[in-house]
Amino acid sequence: MRAWTVPTITEALRARRLLAAHLPPTPMWSYPALDAAVGGGRTVLVKHENVQPTGAFKVRGGLTLLGGMEPAERARGVVGYSTGNHAQSLAYAAAHFGAPCVIVMPAEPNPVKAAAVRALGAELIEAGADLDEAAEHAGRVAGERGMRLVSAADEPELIAGVAGVYLEIFEQAPDVDTVLVPVGGGSGAAAACLAAAAVAPHCRIVAVQSAASPAAHDSWRAGRPLARPNRTRVEGLATGRGFALTQQLLRGRLADFLLVEDEEIARAQWLLMRDAHTLAEGAGATALAALLVHGDRLPGRKVAVVCTGANAGERELRACGAAAGGGSVAAAR
Ligand SMILES: *Cc1c(COP(=O)(O)O)cnc(C)c1O
Repeated sequence: MRAWTVPTITEALRARRLLAAHLPPTPMWSYPALDAAVGGGRTVLVKHENVQPTGAFKVRGGLTLLGGMEPAERARGVVGYSTGNHAQSLAYAAAHFGAPCVIVMPAEPNPVKAAAVRALGAELIEAGADLDEAAEHAGRVAGERGMRLVSAADEPELIAGVAGVYLEIFEQAPDVDTVLVPVGGGSGAAAACLAAAAVAPHCRIVAVQSAASPAAHDSWRAGRPLARPNRTRVEGLATGRGFALTQQLLRGRLADFLLVEDEEIARAQWLLMRDAHTLAEGAGATALAALLVHGDRLPGRKVAVVCTGANAGERELRACGAAAGGGSVAAAR
């Protein structure tokens, strides 16, 4: 693993300039029906990263990372490990820059995400029972083939690229009081802290994780990276350990870190579909779930929830309607 330095707002602005040629800003809308469902007289702003070309915010990081590599290193290619959206981000960026890309996914991946990675031209290897085992395998592949191993979160370029989400939010709603960010490895929340510290110091950044996979939450509360059980069914949030770089950025900058149950995420997923006409995967509905469950702990009238992604699996999609009757979307992945 290479040594990293903490990304700065200058790098985030440079990444934003690079990305402007590839990705237009994503919209941020509020929906009266959703505001009514949330209650408390709040305006809920949904930041629509679900409309990115890969269906998730991570594409910003992938393009930034590949775009910043030396041409010779890039020509040897990149290896990533992921349950899905990080993989699509790297595969998309590698295709854009004409670089080889290998993705290692834990066995029996979400078929929609696996098919998307193959369609983008990357080589897909299924190895390991979980993300940590897939990561080990990816490290071996990178060593054997002389390719660059890309971490799921401890990469300054990923964080600098993803910070664009939050720079856009603060432009689109300079008076936003609170931004809720779903967390797996923590690159999104770290990027939010970086952007807010520079341009919106009044705004509270609040992270949210599944109670079934609380590694980042527990790491933040303890002040050091910890390993924790990883049992959530919500892909994108399924990580078993805290990452050092993202934890360093969250420390001292994050206003709060909340946990929600997978069932509560499923309910938020349904509300986004019904009231915001938005297809979110579970991780993409997690910020809204926190607002529904912990609204009393969140001061402020204007709250942004980042709908980070749309890549729901086929069974999850079919179950979304069933959730209207109280059924479980997350459980039906
Ligand atoms: C990866 C991912 C997350 C979590 O982001 P981190 O940067 O790993 O904390 C949230 N939502 C979606 C849709 C994701 O793909």
